[in-house]
Amino acid sequence: MAVANKDMVGVQEETPSAPRFETLVFDLDDTLYPLSSGLAHACRLNIESYMVEKMGIDPAKVPDICTTLYKSYGTTMAGLWAEGYYFDHDDFHKYVHGRLPYHLLRPDPILRNLLQSMPQPKYIFTNADKIHAAVVLKKLGVEDMFEGILCFETFNTHCAIAKERREAGEQDVKLDVSVPIVCKPSIACMGEAVQLLGINPAKTLYFDDSARNIFGGKRVGLHTVLVGSPIACDGADHHVSSIHNVRESIPEIWAEPHFFDELRLSRKIAVETVA
Ligand SMILES: [Mg+2]
Repeated sequence: MAVANKDMVGVQEETPSAPRFETLVFDLDDTLYPLSSGLAHACRLNIESYMVEKMGIDPAKVPDICTTLYKSYGTTMAGLWAEGYYFDHDDFHKYVHGRLPYHLLRPDPILRNLLQSMPQPKYIFTNADKIHAAVVLKKLGVEDMFEGILCFETFNTHCAIAKERREAGEQDVKLDVSVPIVCKPSIACMGEAVQLLGINPAKTLYFDDSARNIFGGKRVGLHTVLVGSPIACDGADHHVSSIHNVRESIPEIWAEPHFFDELRLSRKIAVETVA
């Protein structure tokens, strides 16, 4: 499974048997597993703890700041950076994700079977870092189900380069504070994802639990599925209470290939009969 980079751009061939949706793109957290897992809550606590311990922010103000930044910038991390807090992004990820209770995630055979049955190529598109994405997918038992992962490092290459230089032994590698963090739901991030994957957004189904991300996805022309909600939101073409319910809610993911298969088969039989 590869992490997407700028070289991933490619055009998918359109054939008469192409299904209505050519590509499936999935958010990771709270989309492939439920919010009730407790991971999101633990993540929020870790972020708040980081703000207190590493940044010296008043603990009484942290929850409000956290919420405001999340709403304004897409992620609290992006907001902290934009507001002038200097921190190492890799250190942030290690602190916030590195201590998550991953044991709460269990292999999900229903999800695996579902993904396996979907004929389209599938990609992960997450704001989280690649280590977190890899751990979650492995815990769920679906790490081999995706063609690639779009993650924090994909859209913030200067951070990935700084990390590589540090790991190579270079001392005092500093990040450029003038470079903003790129993340969902910004149009820049959504648009870059479409470009990197080389997909036709009109023929791509995008799954996410965040109403803001769904709205962002719709703005770049994606077909959207709000996951984990009994009601729709602005920009949602579909909504499902769980990723497990996709087969019932969006049968066209499977229907058209079967239709074309049957069509091809009937033509073949007709030709053979005539011959
Ligand atoms: Mg999510």
